[in-house]
Amino acid sequence: MIPITVVDVRDAEDLVVEVLRSGAIAQGPMVKRFEEAFAAVSGTKHAVAVNNGTTALVASLQVLDLKPGDEVITSPFTFVATLNAILEAGATVRFADIRRDDFAVDPDAVAAAIGPRTKVLMPVHLYGQTADMGKLAPLAAERGLHLVEDSAQAVGATFDGRRSGSFGLGCFSLYATKNITTAEGGVITTDDDELADRLRVLRNQGMRARYQYEVAGHNYRMTDLHAAVGIPQLAKLDTITAARQRNAKRLTEGLAGTPGLDLPQVLPGREHVWHQYTVLVGPHAFLSRDELAAALTERGIGNGIYYPKVVFDYDCYRGHELIPDASLDSVPVARSVAAQALSLPVHPKLTEDDLDKIIETVREVLGA
Ligand SMILES: *Cc1c(COP(=O)(O)O)cnc(C)c1O
Repeated sequence: MIPITVVDVRDAEDLVVEVLRSGAIAQGPMVKRFEEAFAAVSGTKHAVAVNNGTTALVASLQVLDLKPGDEVITSPFTFVATLNAILEAGATVRFADIRRDDFAVDPDAVAAAIGPRTKVLMPVHLYGQTADMGKLAPLAAERGLHLVEDSAQAVGATFDGRRSGSFGLGCFSLYATKNITTAEGGVITTDDDELADRLRVLRNQGMRARYQYEVAGHNYRMTDLHAAVGIPQLAKLDTITAARQRNAKRLTEGLAGTPGLDLPQVLPGREHVWHQYTVLVGPHAFLSRDELAAALTERGIGNGIYYPKVVFDYDCYRGHELIPDASLDSVPVARSVAAQALSLPVHPKLTEDDLDKIIETVREVLGA
């Protein structure tokens, strides 16, 4: 079986052992080192490490002082954490439909969704390519809105040379399957000194000096053990990204012209870091998306459906008071993409033989 993802953190052994031997295993100097390296990679002044990517999103919203009824506009085609984080922060969720070329929110749909209570735009940089920040960042600035980027899948991606997460508050996940991992972990990046300071206080029970509480906070801390796992990977980020880009290029060359298959695009001005290589299986393909997924699994090609449904299309969200106007009819592109998307392996551990096998198998089962 060629897996859809491979986790390789063996190079962290020395640093992890160093932390274990030190006896200081919770948040400490290793987290600080990780934060400095992450800020350097993101091109931001600050990076605040937290315990996971969902927390990064929640904490970012919490330092923006939202009031009940304030609204966050986000993508209906995302991992459920995006939605759960907004609900956890107590904000009202509005959805703007996505574009079929970058799978991220359509700036025109976002502009149309802005109302008097809108406070935050939260685009999701899906699969490793940023949303259209050339339109979304100016839109947020013109309308006086905060920008919180769900960059969980896009560490290192750029738009016009600017790194994802450097346009507003950037929220990253370091979960095991992400491009860079600490097993579980998250980071918030920002150039804003005051927000960075508030995030640091918030993650540690709202405590500035020992037992001096400034706000009702939480425990969002990362541990030095986790930071030690991530540090060597940050040093290798360019190599990891280059391998994913090379693999994506091979897949695109090999799969070109397969009937019924739409291949992922790299849009002008954007650097794609290929968290996922996601094809769309159109209505005229020889197999349906689900049939193709089953055929590939049967032939030893790992694959994944990210995501099978529009994010709010579950019973637990129907009638939710913080999701007042979610309707499938208003997000037709997200709906059709959710029915057609299939991700193929693109991770750095793929061999030439693996890539050949993926290409040959997909072509063969689709009758190309
Ligand atoms: C992984 C992910 C998250 C959540 O990160 P965790 O570290 O798993 O909490 C949020 N949004 C998106 C788009 C993700 O892919």
